This record gives sequence, C-alpha cells and structure tokens, in this order.
Amino acid sequence: MLQELYLLRALGFEYIKPTNVTKEATKQSSEMPSSLSKMNQLANSCHLCGLSKTRKNIVFGEGSKDADLMFIGEGPGAREDETGRPFAGRSGELLDKIIKNVLKLKREDVYIANIVKCRPPNNRVPTMDEANACRAYLKEQIKIVKPKVIVALGSTSYHHLTQEFDTKISRVRGEVYDFLGAKLVPTYHPSFLLRNPSAKKDVYHDMLRVKELLK
Ligand code: URA
Repeated sequence: MLQELYLLRALGFEYIKPTNVTKEATKQSSEMPSSLSKMNQLANSCHLCGLSKTRKNIVFGEGSKDADLMFIGEGPGAREDETGRPFAGRSGELLDKIIKNVLKLKREDVYIANIVKCRPPNNRVPTMDEANACRAYLKEQIKIVKPKVIVALGSTSYHHLTQEFDTKISRVRGEVYDFLGAKLVPTYHPSFLLRNPSAKKDVYHDMLRVKELLK
C-alpha cells in the first residue's frame, strides 16, 4: 500500500484533501499520465529500485501513441541500455522482421515497452520488486496508448502482466486473454527464438492470430 502511494507520488499525483479540491488541482493531478513524453521525463529521474544505480539510460519505450498493437518485453539489454531504445539489439532485429514480414506493419506503427525500464545487471531476470516498482509506468503507458492487442514477449512479460507466475509460456502462447481493455496474446520472446529457431513457426501462428484481432 505504502509502496503504491510512493509510486503514485513519483508519477506526479498529489494528495488533495477531498474538501479542498479545486478545478486547477484536479487538472494538475490528471494531466501527468496523459502524456508519454512527460512520463518518460519522470522515469529518467526514477530511483524507485536498485536498477537506477547501474543503468546508463532509461529505456522507456517507443512507437506510436495511437498504436493498435503493443509489444511488451522483459527489460533492456546492453544495446538498449546504451541507446535508450527498446529492442535495439539482435532480438530487436528479429522483432522488426516479425512486425514487417508477418504483421505487415512498420515498427513506427506499433508501441514497444518492457516490464522494467532499466537494464538488470548481466541481463538477469528482473526481480519481483523491480517489476513492481516499474509497474505504474507500464500501466500508464497502456492506459495512454490504449492498444487493441498487447503481445507479451516471453514468460517474464506474461508472468508480471498477469501475475500468473506458475503458468508456463508454452501452455498459454497463442491464446487470447482480456487484459486492461485489450486482448493479450502471449508468445515466445525473440531471444528465445534466436536460441530455438524451431519455435519460430509457433510465433508465426501467434502473429496470424494477432493480425486477425487487429482487423
Ligand atoms: N529484450 C527485452 O525483453 N527487451 C528489450 O528491450 C530488449 C531485449
């Protein structure tokens, strides 16, 4: 509860006494989350978890704020940390191919974010505390972009989005779930595909499903 309040304060919310709510104050407290760039600025000075100590750059997310499709990965790697851009390395090249060749979209047409905005050292899986500290940002991103379809890339993304930590990605991939006003489709992470190319056909089928949902 206390952590949630700290997060909300970090996101620009202010405590206002109910008897004292002026038009101006209401406007101020609701203005912040409506802009991705403001949120990005806020995240740049975020110290809600230990990843802030080792990051070079925040990787807030990028793409169209009007995107119908949002991809959510796990967290930045070395290349993303260097550049401040999500999926900027080898798994990003594969994600770009999926977007272009299967979905017939451009990268600029979609929105790409991660469960955590800062690189976990040595690319380890983010801890529960790190993911929780970042959750308010991601929720706001989803609220602002309002995608029709969200693709959870890999088990870490699926687990933290749904809080279903015991479910294997291989069991749920390609299924469609209702999630925060969108359809959630879990699939394998591109870096898994780089190590296991035979799973590419599964992702191909999952993306055909996504394409149908976007129609
Ligand atoms: N892997 C992720 O999950 N996210 C990135 O941004 C890059 C690699």
